[in-house]
Amino acid sequence: MLLLGAHMSIAGGVEKAILRGEELGCTAIQVFTKNANQWRAKAISAETASAFAQAWRSSGIKTVIAHDSYLINLAAPEEDKWLRARNAFIDEMQRCALLGIPALVMHPGAHLGSGEKAGIERIAAAFKGIFAEAPEGVTVLIENTAGQGSYLGGRFEHLAEIMDRLPKGRLGICFDTCHAFAAGYDISSTEGYAGVMEEFRRLVGLEHLHAFHLNDSKKPLGSAVDRHEHIGKGAIGLQGFAQLMGDPRFAAVPKILETPKGEDNEFDRMNLGLLRGLAKED
Ligand code: MN
Ligand code: MN
Ligand code: ZN
Repeated sequence: MLLLGAHMSIAGGVEKAILRGEELGCTAIQVFTKNANQWRAKAISAETASAFAQAWRSSGIKTVIAHDSYLINLAAPEEDKWLRARNAFIDEMQRCALLGIPALVMHPGAHLGSGEKAGIERIAAAFKGIFAEAPEGVTVLIENTAGQGSYLGGRFEHLAEIMDRLPKGRLGICFDTCHAFAAGYDISSTEGYAGVMEEFRRLVGLEHLHAFHLNDSKKPLGSAVDRHEHIGKGAIGLQGFAQLMGDPRFAAVPKILETPKGEDNEFDRMNLGLLRGLAKED
């Protein structure tokens, strides 16, 4: 079964995301469990958790994953900022556990001038503490980035280095197509796609790839600029997405759109329709 959908708004209650996804025929969705631009959030009540579970159970949605707040930077060199991020991330994992969400996508963070090596050590140190305190049922998915500024995760090597420093089983990867392309990984052609996935296999391992973010890129290959475009309308183009949708190695991996939604999610309908077509063609 194709696990395909989009990031869905939680406006009006987290369970509303399920209803919105269901309306679009999603079989997988992504949500924030709180406002992604704020530190604070209302705790998840028993009522909220049960409304969410009820909506999920009675929907056609198989997979729900969460995305963490944009404020969290586990690579932060300053102690107080790092601690705040670490504690906020534990809270995010607890929110996922309360909602029964099994995976939480996060951006590895920015070293802010302290250097790649120091940043990676910082992230690994944060996760050691996080995994000791946070619920075990939630897998953390590190997302590859466009490699903008001091942001880590633009190279597959960064992802591998973080994973190598931590015990197996609690970490995986979320592969964002726009970010990979902007970071210089050319997935736009058949040969390009094959080469990039081979490099990912060699450095990280395909078994660690637990989710995809499907976004085309407004900006060219290697631009290091993260701007999402509708599927097929950007610099990656349809050929790259056809490769991915037809790749049997990723048939069971959830695939989530993070593209502009338009009025009443009209662009989600368009992009989902296109991707369903590409999945069938193979
Ligand atoms: Mn992300
Ligand atoms: Mn993404
Ligand atoms: Zn992005």
